[in-house]
Amino acid sequence: MTISTGNKIGLLGFLLILGIWAYVVCQIMGTFDQRSIKDKKYHVRSLNIANELRQSSDDLTRMARTFVVTGDEIYAQYYFEIIAIRNGISPRPKKYPPTYWYTDFASDRSDLTSLGKSIPLQTLMREMGFTPSELLLLQQSQDRSDSLMKIEKQAFAVMKGLYADGEGKYTIKGQSDRELAIQLLFSPRYNEAKIEIMTPIQEFIEAVENRLIHESDVFQTKQQQYLWYAILLLLISTFLALIAAIYVRNKIVLPILLLNKEAHIITKGNYKARSKVDVKNEIGSLSQSLNEMANHIEQDIDKFKQLAATDELVGISNRRAFIKSLELELERAHRYQLPLSLLMLDVDNFKVFNDTYGHCIGDEVLKTICKVSQLALRENDLMGRIGGEEFAFVLPASNIDSALIVAERIRAAVDSSSLIVGPNKVKITVSIGATQLTKTDDVRVFLNRADMAMYKAKENGRNQTYWV
Ligand code: GH3
Ligand code: MG
Ligand code: MG
Repeated sequence: MTISTGNKIGLLGFLLILGIWAYVVCQIMGTFDQRSIKDKKYHVRSLNIANELRQSSDDLTRMARTFVVTGDEIYAQYYFEIIAIRNGISPRPKKYPPTYWYTDFASDRSDLTSLGKSIPLQTLMREMGFTPSELLLLQQSQDRSDSLMKIEKQAFAVMKGLYADGEGKYTIKGQSDRELAIQLLFSPRYNEAKIEIMTPIQEFIEAVENRLIHESDVFQTKQQQYLWYAILLLLISTFLALIAAIYVRNKIVLPILLLNKEAHIITKGNYKARSKVDVKNEIGSLSQSLNEMANHIEQDIDKFKQLAATDELVGISNRRAFIKSLELELERAHRYQLPLSLLMLDVDNFKVFNDTYGHCIGDEVLKTICKVSQLALRENDLMGRIGGEEFAFVLPASNIDSALIVAERIRAAVDSSSLIVGPNKVKITVSIGATQLTKTDDVRVFLNRADMAMYKAKENGRNQTYWV
């Protein structure tokens, strides 16, 4: 896989995992937070509603009884205020705690100035979203509370001296009878009716609690499920991250480090070194390119070395390359005490030849001499062009006798060869100086002696070999 493909796959994978993570975390956090807060609030409000129903019934009883016992009209007024608030006819005080109607508290009227909405208790119950059976229980309780109110109204009427007319109305005037009113509100029938109000409220509280426990169980199961998803996702993410880390280390980091090291070696001039990085991605292809570049550089250097060591015209070692070879042979001969001989060849009267036939023909003559001479050499003998029309030969493992044989062979081969120029056959000769290495010779002395021998050959009449 290439790095660019890996990069795309990695990015997509990362975004995907991130998306799944966000979803799971939202599910856990969102549902848990909202639900738990809602549950708590809902639970408290449910209990408050049930309590308010019970409390308002209690308050009505207390106000009615206090009125009939004390005869103080204020309690009758409180009584009707409680009913008006409960039925949504009067606005509810903003602060409406269960203790609101206790005598002491109620004497502080300042709170009644801060009023809220006029809303019947029944509407509040319906807005809570209770189940129909739960609502029914509350309704039952309120109905029983309402029927209790009939006895209370009867007691109120008795206080005013009014009695029932048989049609449920108190229109018949008589004597106010406080004793009877007290009897009505403290009778066993009244007390039993009071207890009956409480039974559905208690059942309602239990029903709501059971429902909330059940809903909470369902929610907890769901929450646990999401937690398992999160753990699974964590394991998958860790595993994928591990794979990505191993991939990056093996296919990117280590190859780059190795390539960098190998590139340094090559750039320091070691063009024989090659990168061994072999990964199938951009780094691998970079490594291949580096190796190909090193190959080309190596080939070019070989070519340049070859060119720098070769004579352009005749294609053999030039003076510099020849002297280098001579140095090596000289060193070896000294070290192993082997014989070594040197020949110096110079074309005879070449200036005149050039003047007669021209430089181009002269060049051809130099090439021919080169070829002819090479044929006369042995395998280990070396030849170089060391001047314009001067050639030299190193003859390893050769004493002067063997050297003279080679020299004569060369000279005779040139002498017997001829070059066709136009209608004429052109003859050329060479003079050769020969010498053998002595223990004290260095390259310069060795070359000078061969040169000297060659000049002697010239002096003696040319086309001959002379040795010193
Ligand atoms: P000698 O027998 O004493 O050596 O006489 P010579 O004329 O050969 O000697 P000299 O040194 O006076 O002349 C050498 C000539 O070699 C001069 C030059 O024109 C010729 N020469 C040197 N290099 C080249 C070359 O590359 N091509 C050609 N055609 N001629 C060359
Ligand atoms: Mg010369
Ligand atoms: Mg010459």
